[in-house]
Amino acid sequence: MVLKELIKFSNKYGADEELVLAGGGNTSAKEGNILYVKASGFPLAGINEEGFVKLDRRKLDEMFTKDYPDDDAVREALVLKDLMAARLPGEERKRPSVETSLHGIFPQTFVLHLHPALVNALTCAKRGKESAEELFGNDFIWIGSTKPGYLLAKACFSAMEDYSIKNGKTANVLIMQNHGIFIAANSPEELENRLKDILNKISTRIKRLPDMSQTKLPNDGPEQMKTAIRNVLGKSVYICCDSGAEALRLSANLSEAQPLLKPFTPDHIVYCKAYPLYLESVNDFEKQYNLYSEKNGYPPKIILLKGMGFFSFASTEKEAVLAKKLFNDAIKIAVYSESFGGPLHMEDDLIDFIVNWEVESYRQKQA
Ligand SMILES: [Zn+2]
Repeated sequence: MVLKELIKFSNKYGADEELVLAGGGNTSAKEGNILYVKASGFPLAGINEEGFVKLDRRKLDEMFTKDYPDDDAVREALVLKDLMAARLPGEERKRPSVETSLHGIFPQTFVLHLHPALVNALTCAKRGKESAEELFGNDFIWIGSTKPGYLLAKACFSAMEDYSIKNGKTANVLIMQNHGIFIAANSPEELENRLKDILNKISTRIKRLPDMSQTKLPNDGPEQMKTAIRNVLGKSVYICCDSGAEALRLSANLSEAQPLLKPFTPDHIVYCKAYPLYLESVNDFEKQYNLYSEKNGYPPKIILLKGMGFFSFASTEKEAVLAKKLFNDAIKIAVYSESFGGPLHMEDDLIDFIVNWEVESYRQKQA
């Protein structure tokens, strides 16, 4: 029964691009000692029974009593091993979402985790935490910038415990800096009401909405850029260009581009790479592309071209389109965050951690 309800609301929210992009977001439900959680590689929009993994909740709970090593790679490898071992017999083919441990910490039946631009308006803004307190009182927990994986799950686990002691009730909402939101409830209706209430409250404080309307540029700049990219990367490279009103404004010059030069959330790193390449002119492409690749150890996926918006490119159409969608998500967050004190990007050590994180690259391959 809970699985049916879980599938229903997962499909509903997964199909809404204002809430879910690419493989982002995940859902879960509990029945006795079983946790049903989204498996990696199954987008929420079309997910069915096959897309959920059954895990033993007792084994997930045990993970919070263990002492894992400090070394990031060693710890996450052990955590992944324990997570895999928590799967029920017959589930061995599936890989639980990397955020499974976070679902386990809520006693409520249903949990919804999303990275919507409207929520990240708060999580990626300098006054985000204060604004959330003004909007939601003490009906939520704010989780500051934390490395994803076990450390984040543990930080949330401890914060939930503290909240319960202090408030005499269980928290229903976790808002995570530079990441997204967890909402928990005992029925899908309650879950929906909480989500709507949060989005409505944030909307009332947005002073300026992003203008995503596309403009046809009165010159052949975009064509020149595409030719320059193909000259270096070959004819088969897939290129998307975007000359939306905000993209044009944010590419006007290097100083306007600042809000987009660093990532807001792990999603932007996974799909767009940590940094876009800003170009003053099409003619700089080859040189700057090579310098970027040498400096970072990987090539860029997004180019911001002065006065011309941005370009995403990849070897497949799917990858290029996803990069374009996620970069537009970053653009929305950049605009929304103006209403909450201005943009707050991910911290450098966190960026490096994500860039190197094996689990995220796995997710990218599976999306
Ligand atoms: Zn997440």
